[in-house]
Amino acid sequence: MTAGIIDGKTFAARIRTEVAAHVARLGAATGTAPGLAVVLVGEDPASQVYVRSKHAATVEAGMASFEHRLPAATTQAELLALIGRLNADPAVHGILVQLPLPAHLNADAVINAIDPAKDVDGFHISNVGLLATGQKAMVPCTPLGCLMLLRDRLGSLAGAEAVVIGRSNIVGKPMAQLLLRDSATVTVAHSRTRDLAAVCRRADILVAAVGRPEMITGEMVKAGATVIDVGINRVERDGKARLVGDVDFASVAAVAGAITPVPGGVGPMTIACLLANTLTAFCRSRGLPEPEGLTA
Ligand code: NAD
Repeated sequence: MTAGIIDGKTFAARIRTEVAAHVARLGAATGTAPGLAVVLVGEDPASQVYVRSKHAATVEAGMASFEHRLPAATTQAELLALIGRLNADPAVHGILVQLPLPAHLNADAVINAIDPAKDVDGFHISNVGLLATGQKAMVPCTPLGCLMLLRDRLGSLAGAEAVVIGRSNIVGKPMAQLLLRDSATVTVAHSRTRDLAAVCRRADILVAAVGRPEMITGEMVKAGATVIDVGINRVERDGKARLVGDVDFASVAAVAGAITPVPGGVGPMTIACLLANTLTAFCRSRGLPEPEGLTA
């Protein structure tokens, strides 16, 4: 193996400590704490795990956590009414609706009903537009975490050839926007890309956000590239359940310059950035200066 390991777990822990320090300081100065409301509809087991960890991390950072667990049969009108109440609640600075929503609900309409200033996931069309036009936005947590890891590793990204594999609204597209904003030369590859391997081999920075276990192999990666593996795939190996990324770690680590592991790479950064976004939303709502290094 030649690649350096990008330790997202340690980096995320540092951000969480930083956020907690800001929360304590702001609490002493203002007598209030940032509040994050998380809305979960239905019983999806993976979503329940995510919501539990978000709650624990929020409380650990000294913030207020408001959990709203609704039955799977919740109607669109009921969900929109809850979003309306959270928008109006001055103790709530961040609102996150855990996706995916049950099929009968219109996720776009729900997300676009969130007050953009409280949209800590950065999925509201206003925030998407602000990010795309280089204005101050709430930035989606996973790509923000990837950007922080890249900046930490590489310093300036200007002029770097960056390839993002995946064009989802949650990861791929905002990742491409952030890289563009940092002056990388950005290519977005996807399921219809011709000769994906050749496109990937151009990359100084390769971000894989596909959802296909270990599909990026060593021969698709340029020597010395920095590889960010966003994928979280549950697979069975030797009769045991395991988590693997979209990148085949062993073969890629043999050629890359640096690589994020799964688990322990991008995953922990997502929650850390959710806390950072909630703190940012709190500061913006009160006209306070935003802590440095916690936004894009
Ligand atoms: P998605 O299914 O919405 O999008 C996948 C993208 O991959 C699509 O744009 C599609 O065009 C592309 N794609 C599919 N097959 C391809 C192929 N053969 N070649 C090239 N491109 C292909 O998924 P998503 O929500 O963007 O998530 C991607 C992965 O990242 C998943 O494994 C997900 O679990 C993971 N994820 C991790 C975090 C985290 O915190 N680390 C957060 C969000 C998503």
